[in-house]
Amino acid sequence: MEKHIVIVGGGFAGLNLIKTIGDDERFRITLVDRNNYHFFPPLIYQVATAFIEPSNISYPFRKLFSKYSNVSLYMASLERVVPEENRIITDQGTLHYDELVLALGTETNFFGIENVRKNALPMKTIDEALYIRNHILQNLETASRNAQTESVQSLINIVIAGGGPTGVELAGMIAEMAGYIAEKDYPDIAFGHTNLYLVDALPSLLSNMSDTAKKTAYDNLKRLGVNIKLNVSVKDYVEENVILSDGTKIPTKTLIWSSGVVGRTIEGIPETSLGKGHRIIVDSYNLVEGFKNIYALGDICITTTDPEFPKGHPQLAQVAIQQAKLLGKNIKKRFRNEPLKEFRYDDKGSMAIISKYNAVVDLPKFSFNGLLAWLTWLFIHIIPLTSFRNKYRLAAEWFRLFITNNASIRMIMKPRKEN
Ligand SMILES: Cc1cc2nc3c(=O)[nH]c(=O)nc-3n(C[C@H](O)[C@H](O)[C@H](O)COP(=O)(O)OP(=O)(O)OC[C@H]3O[C@@H](n4cnc5c(N)ncnc54)[C@H](O)[C@@H]3O)c2cc1C
Repeated sequence: MEKHIVIVGGGFAGLNLIKTIGDDERFRITLVDRNNYHFFPPLIYQVATAFIEPSNISYPFRKLFSKYSNVSLYMASLERVVPEENRIITDQGTLHYDELVLALGTETNFFGIENVRKNALPMKTIDEALYIRNHILQNLETASRNAQTESVQSLINIVIAGGGPTGVELAGMIAEMAGYIAEKDYPDIAFGHTNLYLVDALPSLLSNMSDTAKKTAYDNLKRLGVNIKLNVSVKDYVEENVILSDGTKIPTKTLIWSSGVVGRTIEGIPETSLGKGHRIIVDSYNLVEGFKNIYALGDICITTTDPEFPKGHPQLAQVAIQQAKLLGKNIKKRFRNEPLKEFRYDDKGSMAIISKYNAVVDLPKFSFNGLLAWLTWLFIHIIPLTSFRNKYRLAAEWFRLFITNNASIRMIMKPRKEN
């Protein structure tokens, strides 16, 4: 009898699990995802800044699975798990499973600041990135129309909350695009030198990276004109003013929130199975604490069983990929009654791009920056893209953009309003 494995979430974790067991006819696999495509979050900030098209970093699941006869997509959003009946409830219907894998990733953490939750712009999905792109372009058009008549500060100021890799990469790109494009496209707007703010509550940018990376990021963003505010946090966002903990008030219609994430809430998974950051506690085989046939993978889970990472693994693509591949191998081993292997994260390092020709790379034994780091970053971000089509198209597009400094997709395209 084939086993029905239901995987919820087709991100790095879900997709790599399918790649590992998708060829095995002993399993019937159903992927549940609220989208019909897989996408690559590390490059989402380039979609938000109108640098690349969403299709460069996304790919339809059905096309990806066309080579597997035992894998199907069920496009729906998970609402609840009913473990005692081995079924899940989605917004589109109910599915029964023999084994369930939760790989839903995280959601934005607004730290309980209600006005920020309501009005700030998160950047975790393609939809959110497209919204930011439209929002920034729309504000520039409004500012251009009103340049002579009223203060346009709140339209052209942008505040980015969170100085991790996402905030740093986004700030670098917006600062460069302002110079290359915005000032030319909108000559009637008087851009100042303090329109872009990067705010972090910690004393440095890229707090999880090396000192070299921190300093390089700080110096380069300063050079690009980014107003960096460290040791301060966003306290509130009232009437289009960002209020900082040091009392500073920044007028802006654009607060981009890249400050943190929490595990997605899943009804049916008890509080006792949740750990730090609302992440689901798993053992060294990614089995959810308290269950025999429910696994969790990637950003949504936490384990303290890896001696090198006693506080849990960082929420990175490599962790999700490595966990998924091992779980796939262990599932196959279990069917052959072979001993299972425990998960140990092989840390390959981290990196962030700062500006054109400059990035920072921290490898386990040494760090480097500058042009070589930038080329390494480009290479490392092309390789894991799904499909040859995306790799080739993105490489060609980057090449053209780096030569011309002129992205030409800055159109405001909004989906038709639903009635
Ligand atoms: C802007 C940004 C930049 C990043 N940059 C880097 C980087 O440079 N390097 C790096 O290593 N990591 C980076 N990360 C982190 C990395 O993307 C995550 O660690 C990785 O995506 C985790 O994989 P995952 O499979 O656990 O979750 P995800 O990739 O988040 O996938 C979750 C999947 O679940 C689906 N889903 C969510 N909720 C539901 C639901 N209710 N029902 C059905 N489906 C659902 C989603 O559609 C998605 O397909 C970045 C993340 C972001 C947001």
